[in-house]
Amino acid sequence: MSLIVQKFGGTSVADADRLRHVAKIITDTYAKGHRVVAVLSAQGDTTDELIEKAKEINPNPSPREMDMLLSTGEQISVSLCAMAIEAMGYPVVSLTGWQSGILTNTVSMNARIKRLDTERVEAELDRRRIVIVTGFQGINRLGDITTLGRGGSDTSAVALAAALHADLCQIYTDVDGVYTADPREVKGARKLDEITYNEMLDLATLGAQVLHNRSVEMAKKYNVKLEVLSSFTGHPGTKIKEVAKGVEKSYISSVAKDKNIARIALLGVPDETGTSFKVFSLLAANNINVDIILQGIGQAERKDICFTVAEGDLERAAGLLKDHQESIGFRAMETNADVAKVSVVGAGMIGSPGVAAKLFEALYDAGININMISTSEIKISVLVDRKDAAKAVQVIHDKFFAM
Ligand code: ADP
Ligand code: ASP
Ligand code: MG
Repeated sequence: MSLIVQKFGGTSVADADRLRHVAKIITDTYAKGHRVVAVLSAQGDTTDELIEKAKEINPNPSPREMDMLLSTGEQISVSLCAMAIEAMGYPVVSLTGWQSGILTNTVSMNARIKRLDTERVEAELDRRRIVIVTGFQGINRLGDITTLGRGGSDTSAVALAAALHADLCQIYTDVDGVYTADPREVKGARKLDEITYNEMLDLATLGAQVLHNRSVEMAKKYNVKLEVLSSFTGHPGTKIKEVAKGVEKSYISSVAKDKNIARIALLGVPDETGTSFKVFSLLAANNINVDIILQGIGQAERKDICFTVAEGDLERAAGLLKDHQESIGFRAMETNADVAKVSVVGAGMIGSPGVAAKLFEALYDAGININMISTSEIKISVLVDRKDAAKAVQVIHDKFFAM
């Protein structure tokens, strides 16, 4: 008897019909003799709506109360799904994050799972019940509810799969799997049969929403067999594994776009030892993540340092730097949130010269200017104006994947 963890996203559980359909997928799996743990997201746009509700009451609510509020969405989904399964005559129980023993750190709204105490879940499975668990939430050592960051239900599912030594973790969503680019935005995007953990991790981190990046990190670490597939079509999905077969004739597997990014330029920074350390240690000490960094050679003992941060951190980062302008010594600061990062990812890039040139050619032909560039072994990212982002993804995709 195998143990299968199945996760269903917001669109998959959006209304009563969708919930009944999900209940059918779960009970069909159970009826084949498997033990099933299902992890559910909040219905449709519930989480966004809850955030709006909070803003109406208080423009600056405490993260603790936000966790309290946001975690309710998932609770509605699991109870309704359990009721649908009850109506079909199967044994079932729904559990919250704390009932499932999902213990996190104390970082509200972006908590990390520290440990899983799976006794309750295992006891329920031993009673041959289907177990339906709220995604996205856990409990911290103070006994407070925490949430795992937007899209975090994927991580709840993989964490449970790892802790329960599940045979398979299936992420059911609203597209057929992982594509060569967002299939909703890019014409000609193709479904991948397989992708490696490393490629998927980069892709998720670079803006492809289809999997929460921490879920991929965890799946790789604990060797969880992961699959992304549609709850709508029943088509075969995408398998995420340690080693994958190459995508035909292409050294890149996917193109991603991230609009949640902003650029900060510090102009006229003194060209002396320790300046970068001052800038980036200040940001790090305040938990602000820096992404692409560019530093010019400079002239007359001054240089410019340019870098990107998440858009949500821009105001805070700029404020901190302004407060330390004198000690860092820069002459002026420019910020720009009208940018987006477009990236190509692919393990096949290693040892394939010319990938960057091909990408730059696609952008040049389309008249799109590149602001910044960053590369690693298996990815190349460029920063472009936000208005150009969708076109940039399309032309890069056409360049690499045109038949
Ligand atoms: P869920 O609610 O099921 O968690 P999400 O909205 O979080 O679903 O993620 C699925 C969405 O991710 C798809 O609808 C699709 O628009 C988007 N997406 C972005 N990049 C990709 C990609 N490379 N492959 C598949 N989907 C992608
Ligand atoms: N409901 C949460 C969100 O919308 C978690 C998730 O869907 O994974 O971000
Ligand atoms: Mg999601």
